[in-house]
Amino acid sequence: MSALQEVMERYEVVIGLEVHSQLRTDSKLFCGCAVRYGDPPNHHTCPVCLALPGALPVLNERAVSLGVRAALATHCSVQPQSIFARKNYFYPDLPKGYQISQFEEPLSTGGWLEIPMPDEAAADAVRRIGITRIHMEEDAGKSIHDDSVAGGDGSQVDLNRAGVPLLEIVSEPDLRSPEEAGAYLRTLRQILRYIEVSDADMEKGHFRCDANVSLRLHGALDLGTRTELKNLNSFRFVEAAIAAEIERQAEVLDGGGAIQQATLLWDRTSGQTRVMRLKENSDDYRYFPEPDLIPVNIDPQAVHDIRAELPELPDQKRERFVREHGLSEYDAGLLTGSRSLADFFEASTAAYGKAKPIANWLLRDVLHALNEREAEIDEVALVPETLVALLRMVDAGRVTPKSARELIPELVARGGDVEALVRERGVEAVSDAGILETAVAEVLADNADAVARFRSGEDKMLNFLMGQVMRRTSGKASPAAVRDILAAKLGG
Ligand code: ADP
Ligand code: MG
Ligand code: ZN
Repeated sequence: MSALQEVMERYEVVIGLEVHSQLRTDSKLFCGCAVRYGDPPNHHTCPVCLALPGALPVLNERAVSLGVRAALATHCSVQPQSIFARKNYFYPDLPKGYQISQFEEPLSTGGWLEIPMPDEAAADAVRRIGITRIHMEEDAGKSIHDDSVAGGDGSQVDLNRAGVPLLEIVSEPDLRSPEEAGAYLRTLRQILRYIEVSDADMEKGHFRCDANVSLRLHGALDLGTRTELKNLNSFRFVEAAIAAEIERQAEVLDGGGAIQQATLLWDRTSGQTRVMRLKENSDDYRYFPEPDLIPVNIDPQAVHDIRAELPELPDQKRERFVREHGLSEYDAGLLTGSRSLADFFEASTAAYGKAKPIANWLLRDVLHALNEREAEIDEVALVPETLVALLRMVDAGRVTPKSARELIPELVARGGDVEALVRERGVEAVSDAGILETAVAEVLADNADAVARFRSGEDKMLNFLMGQVMRRTSGKASPAAVRDILAAKLGG
């Protein structure tokens, strides 16, 4: 048993996550500056996001409707009125000296999502995790600590990100293990991408997570004191950081100590958590309603319209794939992992006429090639027509399944015409009867012993003889044609 498992036998782990996800808008939350990643520093700024005196914020309507979309997709209630508040703190990347966020009256409350339970026997076992609230806020800028500045100890600030719209999605303390926290994040990210509310790209910092962790004895009613791990930006780090923090807390509690409420940083090199500051509470931020913005009023008709426009969500799509295409829950889950893959599957299936072979080729060979390239299906050159053309060549005996599989990485990388690629690679299957007859005759002559054993009842020798013919034709013989010829010759 691992140290973590041992701790989890003695203590119940309680986790609640706060996720910040960048909204997919063209402009910032309170000004017209462009939201663009990777541009030169301080290119997208104006008096509002630079906090020049007298500049006034104007709310981006698009950001509000994206927030409502996210709320509806996670079964939250959208509040008819929500209020922006100032969250006051000082940091060099925060020019106003406060962040405009929502506090007492957030955009939406009281939702949930369902996460898959990997350990359960049933593939469709799920657990429901509560969502406390989803609110809107602006991002801060970015501090750059760069050795090239001021002889090595200077810092710079890039305000391109200042004022970029974020959703903060706060979960109930319903998660019970690092794996569940990971599953929750994957599910949430998948939903936000499906509904095109956020790209939720962790590498670009567009999807970040703070993890609150506490322990209590199994059966205890009160929650233990929690600590908060800040700004975890990969699934792997989230799970590793939570696991390390669970072990640290268990050690403190085992030694008769008490957990101090604190904000921690995860150090990925040491694999340990360390205290950044003892916990501030909301009083420290001196929240008050933002006087420069009026309350956000959302009328029921607008909510109704946004609900009507919601696309099919991952769970619904998975169930439909099981129902309509006869897939297993597991395969359907993989194929609906992203909307683009699901769309690819459906387009290919429609063109080919059968779902199962498409699912098999996608799940086995195409996904493998995508993983190798760390790419999504809509980022590569392969298109449904190409996959279908390849399968049709296999069906016609013009390429062996083995050769076809070997072409997949090439088709994923470069796409193009399947016929041309097959010719260029010289992998067209040999189904020319004359050539195959000759090859079969040679193999039978060279393997008299195997032929005799087959005739005396050893059926498996047929496969051996098939293999010999394939070898003689460098694997290009059409297996179906060879089988027919062999059967005819041996049967006679
Ligand atoms: P704050 O905004 O000050 O961090 P919140 O009360 O909004 O505090 O809680 C933030 C997150 O912490 C939520 O996701 C919540 O589920 C989680 N949480 C609260 N109490 C605990 C606890 N004792 N153990 C683990 N998580 C907790
Ligand atoms: Mg917090
Ligand atoms: Zn601006």
